[in-house]
Amino acid sequence: MKFNINEEQLIIKPYKSPTSIYVREQKGFYQKIRRYINWLLMFIFIALPFVQFNDQQAILLDVVKQEFRIFNFTFWPQDFILLAGIFMVAAFGLFFITTWIGRVWCGYVCPQTVWTLAYVWVEHRIEGSRNKRIKLDNSPWSASKVTKKVTKHLIWQLMSLFTATTFISYFVPVSELYSGMITFGWSGAVTFWVLFFAIATYGNAGWMREHVCLHFCPYSRFQSAMFDKNTLLVAYDSKRGENRGPRKRKDDAKAKGLGDCVDCNLCVDVCPAGIDIRNGIQYECINCGLCIDACDQTMKKFNYPKGLISYTSEQQLAGKPTNRFNIKLISYGSLSILFVVLLGFWFSQRIPLEANIIRDRNALYRVNYQGIVENTYTLKILNKTQQPLHFYINATNLANADITLPKNLLIGAGVMEEVPVTVSIDGYDLKDKITKFSFIIQSVEQPDIMLEKNTMFFKN
Ligand code: SF4
Ligand code: SF4
Repeated sequence: MKFNINEEQLIIKPYKSPTSIYVREQKGFYQKIRRYINWLLMFIFIALPFVQFNDQQAILLDVVKQEFRIFNFTFWPQDFILLAGIFMVAAFGLFFITTWIGRVWCGYVCPQTVWTLAYVWVEHRIEGSRNKRIKLDNSPWSASKVTKKVTKHLIWQLMSLFTATTFISYFVPVSELYSGMITFGWSGAVTFWVLFFAIATYGNAGWMREHVCLHFCPYSRFQSAMFDKNTLLVAYDSKRGENRGPRKRKDDAKAKGLGDCVDCNLCVDVCPAGIDIRNGIQYECINCGLCIDACDQTMKKFNYPKGLISYTSEQQLAGKPTNRFNIKLISYGSLSILFVVLLGFWFSQRIPLEANIIRDRNALYRVNYQGIVENTYTLKILNKTQQPLHFYINATNLANADITLPKNLLIGAGVMEEVPVTVSIDGYDLKDKITKFSFIIQSVEQPDIMLEKNTMFFKN
């Protein structure tokens, strides 16, 4: 797919302040969808850290303890493959969605978009509509202007602080975090990260806005590789719209040689990326659909059919059939499903138990006063579940072996225990000087939590 990039866009422009785009507030079908999605996402983001499961915070990614709890499961750095799998599913899922329906991620669910929308909403409530904001910014400083600006920035800063604290509550227990906030008992690290994310939120959603999407976000750069002629994008139907031009409602546009675009400029005023979609498909467009709402509103006023700007494909615009299920889309979809299946398989095979065997470094074996050969091991056992568990330890391939280990072996939830184990056997029962065998470590309460670890037994 070719983007309509003119020479002016290729010139590196100096940084423009965010006030250079005054977004007009727009109501309409797509804006309503965006608002509902945004409220839902914000609610989930804020509420999740407060959800309790088994009397503990349901989601807690404890980086210091390297313990990542998600409801009934606790993951450890050894489960890193899970993270890699999730990234693969997310990446191919995103490629699939982008090939299919363009940058809807950017327009509807990206945190940058969600927070920018909330900050613009506050700005609109305090400083007024688009025209009032332009007037205010161009007016000399006065008490009223200072009050409005200070109020807006204070609210933005409070929102940023709240966002950052909520984000950190995924990493620090909420009870500890909020009690520490009230008693000024935050550690240096917690204070640093809350301030860091607060400043980042304030800067990104309050000041940088669309500049983050245009200049920093890598996704907006490589998305063009995923688009094709069948991808659903927001586009202007120039055949129908041109020649554009103002007219009165009752005018006969055809007689005047005009198309359906009345040149009201609303599609430009509402665009958060500050582009004119009538210039063709542009890489800055985040597929938010606000220009569709604005244009449909104008079409309704003039009694024209809606859809001068719409979600469509290049094929559709050219009057050709759209083939949604092309090879690229099917490949991305298949790879997403494959990685989901692989992740599900890994998950079903995962045993929430880890064990390492360390042999006694001082002596390979000992022979006791009865002529019995002894080998000593230290078993490092990590209980990765959320409950304390008792364990049995047995040995395979060592008939008549005696295993000496601490009685009533109980290991706490998320605790790694070092267990000294002595295996004793009459040397005459073994043919070779080195015998391979396995320790079987099995939970008493949940027998399916079982691990087999190979090691060796030495004799003289
Ligand atoms: S051109 Fe339309 S869809 Fe694209 S970013 Fe602007 S308002 Fe949103
Ligand atoms: S909103 Fe529609 S009618 Fe108005 S300028 Fe944009 S394309 Fe033309």
